[in-house]
Amino acid sequence: MAAIIIVRDVTYTYPHQETPAINHLSVDIAEGAWVAIIGHNGSGKSTFARLLNGLLPIQQGQIKIKGMLVDEAHIWEIRDLVGMVFQNPDNQFVGATVADDVAFGLENRQVSRREMERRVPLALAQVQMGAFAEREPARLSGGQKQRVAIASTLVIEPKVLILDEATSMLDPQGRREMIDLVRELKIALGDALTVISITHDIDEATHADQVLILDDGTLVEMDTPAKVFTDAEKLRRLGLAVPIAAQLKEKLAVRGVSVPAGYLTTEGMVEWVWQSYSKR
Ligand code: ADP
Ligand code: MG
Repeated sequence: MAAIIIVRDVTYTYPHQETPAINHLSVDIAEGAWVAIIGHNGSGKSTFARLLNGLLPIQQGQIKIKGMLVDEAHIWEIRDLVGMVFQNPDNQFVGATVADDVAFGLENRQVSRREMERRVPLALAQVQMGAFAEREPARLSGGQKQRVAIASTLVIEPKVLILDEATSMLDPQGRREMIDLVRELKIALGDALTVISITHDIDEATHADQVLILDDGTLVEMDTPAKVFTDAEKLRRLGLAVPIAAQLKEKLAVRGVSVPAGYLTTEGMVEWVWQSYSKR
């Protein structure tokens, strides 16, 4: 699959800072992929996201998205190509109703009323919030608010959706629903949507196609979740959480039981333990 995002040797240092927040970063992201970005606090994840959609100016190196250079001259095209959803659901609302809120970005872009009437219900349906169109955003649950925030970006028909810790303020159920929603969107939209989810939630990251680890602004590794999440020692060294399945694997290894590679979800691990146990 062709790369939709090409990052070449990008370095970014915030004003009045000595060390760069992003340091000689190069990476390709395949069109239609779901990439999770993990890394300890301050590792540069949000800075990377802000560089990708032009919220921060690129000082060194270059980024191309769908062949377009991310720079001042293309800023509006880039904002249409890359949609962002942030951590705090309450900071993202501008409309009096859910439908108004989703329509806001279209009004800004001078989209015709007719086109709005087509796109707004479609975007709400994509996040299963069609029934909430006339509700007041403030009265929704955290998970519902984040789904509306996603609809507000999908309505612009972006090629890339970036979720910057968009699940971190949700309860476990809200988180689960967001992961399911991203999976459904990926199935429905296929290669038309590339998802980058920045997360502390290992469960969320294990559902991605690829996991990218950032450490002090540099890329440590980008690989499948199965590969990234097997080395508990390495994850700890990078200040990252170790999935329960990997912790169990480590403990079993000490007792001379080796678990085959690939079982990284908790469910997968339960399955394997269950099968091995019933064979005895
Ligand atoms: P993450 O999202 O992985 O927690 P960030 O991209 O927010 O990391 O931060 C990367 C580094 O840049 C950190 O050292 C952080 O302190 C610094 N940083 C982030 N935002 C700013 C800012 N507005 N001004 C100065 N330094 C910042
Ligand atoms: Mg951040």
